[in-house]
Amino acid sequence: MTARTTAISGIAAHRVAKTQDYLESAGADIYGQYVFDDVAQRKYLAKPIYQKLRQTIDGHEPFDLAIVDAVAHGVKEWALGQGATHYTHWFVPMTGSTAEKHDSFLTPTGDGKTIAEFSGRNLVQGEPDASSFPSGGIRATFEARGYTAWDVTSPIFLQVEPNGVTLTIPTAYVSFTGEALDHKIPLLRSQEALGKQALRVLRWFGNRATKRVFTNIGPEQEYFLVDRRLAEQRPDLLLTGRTLFGAAPPKGQELEDQYFGPIRERILAFMMDLDRELWRLGIPAKTRHNEVAPGQFEMAPVYEPTSVGSDHNMIVMSLMRRLAPQHGLMFLIHEKPFAGINGSGKHNNWSMATDDGENLLDPGNDPHANAQFLAFLMAVIRAVNEHADLIRASIADAGQDHRLGANEAPPAIMSIFLGSQLVDVVEQLGNGGATGSKQGGSVELGVTSLPVLSKDATDRNRTSPFAFTGNKFEFRAVGSSAPIYWPQTVLNTAVADSLKKLADELDGLKPEDMAGLTTILSGIVKANKQVLFEGNGYSEEWHAEAARRGLPNNRSTVDALPSLTTDKAKALFSGFGVLSERELAARVEISWERYVKVQDIEANCAADIASTMILPATARYLGELGGAPSSRGINAVCERVSALADTLVDAIGALQGAQHEAHAAGSVEDEARAFATSVIPAQDALRGVVDELETVVADDLWPLPKYRELLFQY
Ligand code: ADP
Ligand code: MG
Repeated sequence: MTARTTAISGIAAHRVAKTQDYLESAGADIYGQYVFDDVAQRKYLAKPIYQKLRQTIDGHEPFDLAIVDAVAHGVKEWALGQGATHYTHWFVPMTGSTAEKHDSFLTPTGDGKTIAEFSGRNLVQGEPDASSFPSGGIRATFEARGYTAWDVTSPIFLQVEPNGVTLTIPTAYVSFTGEALDHKIPLLRSQEALGKQALRVLRWFGNRATKRVFTNIGPEQEYFLVDRRLAEQRPDLLLTGRTLFGAAPPKGQELEDQYFGPIRERILAFMMDLDRELWRLGIPAKTRHNEVAPGQFEMAPVYEPTSVGSDHNMIVMSLMRRLAPQHGLMFLIHEKPFAGINGSGKHNNWSMATDDGENLLDPGNDPHANAQFLAFLMAVIRAVNEHADLIRASIADAGQDHRLGANEAPPAIMSIFLGSQLVDVVEQLGNGGATGSKQGGSVELGVTSLPVLSKDATDRNRTSPFAFTGNKFEFRAVGSSAPIYWPQTVLNTAVADSLKKLADELDGLKPEDMAGLTTILSGIVKANKQVLFEGNGYSEEWHAEAARRGLPNNRSTVDALPSLTTDKAKALFSGFGVLSERELAARVEISWERYVKVQDIEANCAADIASTMILPATARYLGELGGAPSSRGINAVCERVSALADTLVDAIGALQGAQHEAHAAGSVEDEARAFATSVIPAQDALRGVVDELETVVADDLWPLPKYRELLFQY
């Protein structure tokens, strides 16, 4: 028995365990059980305290330090009642993972006893050592001080584990000098920038009631699950999250029988555990299904305000990672775990909404609402056109380079799909004013020149990176492993910029001068219509056409990141107070560093596997062949394997040589470029040899679980 066959016998014997008492605790009973939600707040806080806190959570009043001791006391009572012994400030530093340091409530009283203490200060402010988080040069290693600050907009929750409970406080993370060191702060700032400009536009339309505009996010999350016993035999999966080697299996996804197919019992057991844990955490998990590739799945929550939804997406990913082993599975969140089949992304469904419940991207039914809808729509179109380079850069990293533009994921060209009805309306607008909408029967004329739109008249286009889907945009090009804060920050800021221009122009018009508005919107169409594309985004023709239109097409991370250092980028982010020039530069620096580190780890891992697993297996096989009775066929195989062994050794040497040379580059940016132009091709060449060997070497000698096993045995 080889390790591979032992693993496969284990899989065959695997039985799904019952982990949930689903009749005893139904979905509605457990929802929000682990969250200091409205119900808990009412129960544990005195009424005036509760009301004040609510005002801040809902964005109506600034944070009031006077209530924090009372809130902390309520939070503590609630948490102790559920068995919590520790608390932690939870944040998202620029590593892209969440961070937490736990402190117990325990405070010695001096008489050999302890009491549980949790003050207002413990709640609102923490002081983690900042020295080991990436700061992109903002902080030197010896300048260790950083602060976490309670983000009241994101609910406090409990992490409940078999042996104890931790009270978890979502926070923002800043340096001693006040610079954002995390993903949350810029997002909250971008939210405020967008809200302010959107409100100006709404006021022009005569809206006096709305107090606040914010964005909503519904991130659909794709992921893979593979059997852990197999995955653990692959150092590449363990260390890099993707397979660095692996020949194409005889069967991949060509039969398209996985998409929406029946969900295997073992996977469904995982999904059921996941959903119920998410519900307990007040995360509205809604949809679950098989995705296109074998072993690939998706979950989608109901949308929420962006900062909450973004935190929740982090929790979704970490919960998936925590629960998978309980089912003997390994969770793969990488954008491209397997070559030759689909990779994973996130579809960020995004819209702008008001505090009085209006979705600003809903076409609505009355003409007046239509005019307003078209104004917001055109603002988004201009934002994506003018800042396509930044939006592209916001989703760039090493993992995404395997996916974007690879004929299964949206291209690296940021275009917008609107659907035929809206395209028609927008075209009419561009020609001076829309007079009706396309479908004969349902035509209703709007105020002056604006048509009535029917809801959900759009088809879908899965090749578009940015698609309008009825009453929201779907940003489909985000990577599966990425924290979604940064792409949403960039999008919000771009839209804030476009709304500001619109609001400035509207300042010069009489309120509700629809003809004047039409002229403005018409101008926006004319200047930005090149970003609209309804066709197949995967096609060669589109790449040529996009080049003719002058749309940026930054294919890889090293092409995309420089967009963030232009004067335009600096002016945009600092102009709206989202990121100072220093903060922006730090982020770019961290992206370069991260790119180099990821590529370097992958190259090290590839060389290591090739040297210590593949070469020995090849040698063993050559030994076997040498001992076999000589024949024309055996001799030919022997020669081929022997030649491949030579190529393998050369390819390992070439990869290591390229790495060595890249490390000698001057700046981290030059190093990244050297990785892109020479290390990655050298690693691809090594993979080519190894994958060929996989198809020749005796199966029982092959040390790595194969694609056919990883993708189909679970
Ligand atoms: P679709 O069928 O268009 O993909 P779904 O209703 O399945 O739409 O929603 C997909 C995701 O989009 C879900 O997470 C959903 O909550 C989210 N979503 C729906 N409406 C909005 C909205 N107005 N703003 C943001 N996200 C939304
Ligand atoms: Mg989807």
